[in-house]
Amino acid sequence: MPITPGRITPDDDRLMEELACRRCATTVLVRKNTRTQTSIQWLADAGETCTELAEQRAAGKPTGLVSGCTALRESIEDAVTEGRLSVLDEVR
Ligand SMILES: [Zn+2]
Repeated sequence: MPITPGRITPDDDRLMEELACRRCATTVLVRKNTRTQTSIQWLADAGETCTELAEQRAAGKPTGLVSGCTALRESIEDAVTEGRLSVLDEVR
């Protein structure tokens, strides 16, 4: 599942839902645009909270370009499957 990290306009914020990574408990804002397209925005300093992200950052990758850790992606998928996270183009 590709995740698009990137800029979220203030307008988009209200469409985003908070989700915590089940492994590192980093909280992010998530918006599922479609089943396959996900936007995430890091809330806390995920580079310090999330071990996987910390590793990526240590390897020289800016946190803003990292599309989330594996556990977070799984958490998002689970939330969608369980109906805790809505997919925007299916709601409309
Ligand atoms: Zn994590």
